[in-house]
Amino acid sequence: MPATPDPAGITASEGLVRGLLFFGGFLLLILAERWRPRRGRHHPLDRRRRWTTNLGLAVIDTLVLRLVLPAAAVGAALSFEAHGLGVFPMLGLPLWAAGVIGFLVLDLSIWAQHVAMHRVPLLWRLHRIHHLDTALDTTTALRFHPAEILLSAGWKILVILMLGIPAAAVLVFEAALSLAALFNHADLDLGRADRPLSRLIATPDWHRIHHSTVPTETNSNYAFLLTLWDRLSGTACLAPSAGHDTMTIGLQDELDGQASLPALLTLPFRRKGSESSDRFA
Ligand SMILES: [Zn+2]
Repeated sequence: MPATPDPAGITASEGLVRGLLFFGGFLLLILAERWRPRRGRHHPLDRRRRWTTNLGLAVIDTLVLRLVLPAAAVGAALSFEAHGLGVFPMLGLPLWAAGVIGFLVLDLSIWAQHVAMHRVPLLWRLHRIHHLDTALDTTTALRFHPAEILLSAGWKILVILMLGIPAAAVLVFEAALSLAALFNHADLDLGRADRPLSRLIATPDWHRIHHSTVPTETNSNYAFLLTLWDRLSGTACLAPSAGHDTMTIGLQDELDGQASLPALLTLPFRRKGSESSDRFA
């Protein structure tokens, strides 16, 4: 009998592998932040308040995603792969080429989505929850409104299905993206290694500039993984105007940065949520 794909089994083990990688990476980065803090030495990270919000959002996001899109990106890729659907299989691309191109296209898609989140006022209402964090550490990587998480997952699944990206490439990309986000939000001092590494991937110094209160800096360095897209599009910014030690993190309307978890969840749907979107439109 021919072997049949087992999406349920594969997605369950994918969940386990990703979960272990994620928690392992998360714990390692928390330890590394204590060992070599970049700003935490001089600026209070206000962990108790921020972590309650950021980790609370992470739990809500995970539950919402599991409820609404239980199969997620790898599950969608597996079911399409079994039927040979999408542009790559139709072109007859070898699996390795489809995997490499698929990985790059997925990263470009997430970069483009991030740009849209800043430039489309309705999307900015959701994404500003992430930018209202008043300090930066690895938990900021988990601070997203659940509606943004759902939009992002839907967009990724659409790209995977249209192109027919191999499930293995999607699995590697998903793991790389979540580890990269934890890494580049970390309050981690990489010393002289940060700048050369940022020529390839988004580093803590590179991504911190994106969380500056200076609007031209907020609207730069959109990369979560490969910095190539920012370099090609002219949205790269190599240094914050106020310097890494003295720059201010967050948005200018900092009051919202102190908002409770329920207030943040309803913020995009309140009138006040759109106030600062005008300057990004
Ligand atoms: Zn952003």
